[in-house]
Amino acid sequence: MEKELQWKTKTIDEHYIYYDDLEIPYEVIRSKRKSLAIAISIGGNVTIKIPWQATKADVIRLLETKRDWIYHSYKKQVVRTRNGIEVKEGASIPFLDKAFRLHIQHNSSKNVADIAVQEDIVLIETPVVDSDFIIECLETWYKKNAKHVITMRAEQYAKAMGVSYGKISIRSQKSRWGSCSSLGNLNFNWHLIMMPSNILDYVVVHELAHRIEMNHSAQFWQIVSEFCPAYKQRKAWLKEKGMSYELLTK
Ligand SMILES: [Zn+2]
Repeated sequence: MEKELQWKTKTIDEHYIYYDDLEIPYEVIRSKRKSLAIAISIGGNVTIKIPWQATKADVIRLLETKRDWIYHSYKKQVVRTRNGIEVKEGASIPFLDKAFRLHIQHNSSKNVADIAVQEDIVLIETPVVDSDFIIECLETWYKKNAKHVITMRAEQYAKAMGVSYGKISIRSQKSRWGSCSSLGNLNFNWHLIMMPSNILDYVVVHELAHRIEMNHSAQFWQIVSEFCPAYKQRKAWLKEKGMSYELLTK
C-alpha cells in the first residue's frame, strides 16, 4: 500500500543533455530517496533519480561530474542496439579476419538444420525459415568454432607465456569478453570469433596474464604488452566496436 502511494506521488520530467555530437534525452524522477543517481538502460534511456528536496543545480552538478561516464555509456548502449548484424539472406557474416555471405536454403525434408561453409558462403539448410531459429543455428556454429579456435590460441600463448590454465568455457555474457577464475578456468565470450583475430588474441593474452597477476596492475599490463604490444589499441577497439556484433532479427 505504501509502495503504491509513493509511486503515485513520483513526478517525471524530460530534458536533454548536449555533449559534442550527441543530444541525449533524460528524465528526472523525483521520489522519496536520499541521494541522486543516474542509470542508463540498454537502448540508452537515461534516468536521473533525485530526492524531493534536490534542486535543478544539484542535477546539473551531477550531470557535470558524470559527464564522461554518461557520454560513453550512452554511446555504448545505443551502438549496441543499433549496430548489430541483421540475420537474413545475403547478410555478411563476420568470422575472424573474413566475412562470409549467408545463404539460407529451405528444405522441408530435413529434421534438423545443417550448416556448412562453402568457400565464402555459410549455407544453412533448414526445415524452418524463421529468423530466431536461424540465429540459434548460427550461434551454435559460432560457439563451436569459438571453442576450437580459442582453445588452440590459448594453448599456443600459454606455452609462450609459461602459464597453465584449467578448463576453457565459451559463454554468452553480455558485456564481458573473458574472465579468469581463481582456479585458473578461463571463460570467453563467443562473439570474439566474429572479431578480427588480433582482438581475439588480445583477450586470450589478457586472461592468461591473470594467471600471473590476478589484477589490473602495472605489472599485469607489462605482461600483456610483452605478448600483445598493441594491447591499448585492441582495448580501445573492443570498447568502441565490441558491442556491435549482436545477431539481430529484423
Ligand atoms: Zn582482466
